[in-house]
Amino acid sequence: MSQVGTAKQIFEDLKKIVGDNYVFTDQETLYDYSHDETEDLSFLPDIVVKPDTPEQISAILKLCSAHKISVTPRGAGTGLSGGALPVNKGVVISMERFNRILKIDERNFQATVESGVITQIFQEAVIPKGLFYPPDPSSRGSSFLGGNLAESSGGPKAVKYGVSKDYVLNLEVVLPTGEIIWTGANVLKNATGYNLTQLMIGSEGTLGIITKIVFRLLPYPPNDIVMLIPFRSSEQACEAVNTILLGGVRPSALEFMERDAIEWSARYLNISINIPDDINAHLLVEVDGNDMDVLFKEAEKIYELIAQYDIGEPLVGDTAQQKEDLWKLRRNVGHAVKSNSIYKEEDTVVPRAELPVLLKGVKKIGSKYGFKSVCYGHAGDGNLHINIVKGDMSKEDWDTKVTEGIKEIFGLCVSLGGTISGEHGIGYVQRPYINIALSEKSIELMRGIKKVFDPDNILNPQKIF
Ligand SMILES: Cc1cc2nc3c(=O)[nH]c(=O)nc-3n(C[C@H](O)[C@H](O)[C@H](O)COP(=O)(O)OP(=O)(O)OC[C@H]3O[C@@H](n4cnc5c(N)ncnc54)[C@H](O)[C@@H]3O)c2cc1C
Repeated sequence: MSQVGTAKQIFEDLKKIVGDNYVFTDQETLYDYSHDETEDLSFLPDIVVKPDTPEQISAILKLCSAHKISVTPRGAGTGLSGGALPVNKGVVISMERFNRILKIDERNFQATVESGVITQIFQEAVIPKGLFYPPDPSSRGSSFLGGNLAESSGGPKAVKYGVSKDYVLNLEVVLPTGEIIWTGANVLKNATGYNLTQLMIGSEGTLGIITKIVFRLLPYPPNDIVMLIPFRSSEQACEAVNTILLGGVRPSALEFMERDAIEWSARYLNISINIPDDINAHLLVEVDGNDMDVLFKEAEKIYELIAQYDIGEPLVGDTAQQKEDLWKLRRNVGHAVKSNSIYKEEDTVVPRAELPVLLKGVKKIGSKYGFKSVCYGHAGDGNLHINIVKGDMSKEDWDTKVTEGIKEIFGLCVSLGGTISGEHGIGYVQRPYINIALSEKSIELMRGIKKVFDPDNILNPQKIF
């Protein structure tokens, strides 16, 4: 914010809108809202506000529009592409007070929630009603549902159940100009005009602020089997993913982890796990459903299908605790890598059958540019998270060679029919690469859409493009 007098007035106006207790300018709070989980980036905002109604957000956006002040919507700050970073300073709108589950409509298999509800809290709230919200990003213990939609988040269960966007029927959104709209209707079919609901999803807080969400839900599958299968060859583990699916089994999760990924996660969690020296990767496979006999048959079938590969002894989670421990290993890989080294995480995605080609290519490109990568991800969706770790690389090599290597990896993804982000979004850090994946015309159309929604470019500027 430029002039001191104007800044003071805006501070006072914001307090009138949300109340004195919900406007912050102290350094500690500004720092807390200056970063997310993306690398080590930090941008201090001028002001943090914590509204709790759409009308308050509308008034904030009108005020900021009038003064051309940048506004950054923020969920839980678990993003991995820097979407919630206030790179232009200005006002951060935290959605943390939008934390109410408003209605669980068992008759219609639907629920209406505010967008600051934590993903796992929502999942657990619908289970006693016999209902199921499958999308489960590994950050589900802290990420918000609104953040999930803004990033079009996925997660392990996407291989069977699809991603967050597949469960959204209708959204309440506050537009950058302050109007409050509903994007659709609470129905399973809707052929009424353009699909504004899906346009908002994945728009990374650049087109509007999501305040309420109407989800569709499924019946809850009460049983599951979880297996950790060791492979001697990482490429064979990737190949096995498609073999399982082509063999007619539809697992509810099919996750790939290179040896380092699982080892680092075990060390991070202080879990002891004995991985024989010749094992280079694991698949974490889950099947779920109603009938345990059917699930046992599916697990046996998976074992038969992968017997053609050079595998070690699978570990099957017998108790709820053992299953949870296996999942913990997978869910904490990201945190483990972060605690180990400076890193860059790429969120590549290719058609599933191309996964072994991608993995081989990543390692080859890494050798060419001199970097090490730790790969893992939602292999059932062809989604490979490539964590490039700095280790003892010089700063100069890290800044130059790694960027060249990333461009080559993204080029490879696109040449295989894939793209540069499957679920983390483009945000701030992937912007330099977007034209590897999108044509100039597509980017021009997207910029046009942004202009229609946000003529003054106040909402989350410097993101995506
Ligand atoms: C350990 C770890 C594991 C992860 N695992 C996964 C995974 O398995 N799958 C996956 O997809 N992602 C994963 N992520 C990434 C991240 O958790 C997701 O992108 C998540 O959806 C972000 O939600 P958030 O509430 O933290 O959003 P934030 O990080 O706060 O914001 C993300 C973006 O959404 C916008 N935004 C937030 N709320 C709103 C709103 N109400 N209206 C409009 N825009 C909004 C912000 O402006 C920003 O652009 C992981 C992250 C970590 C740290």
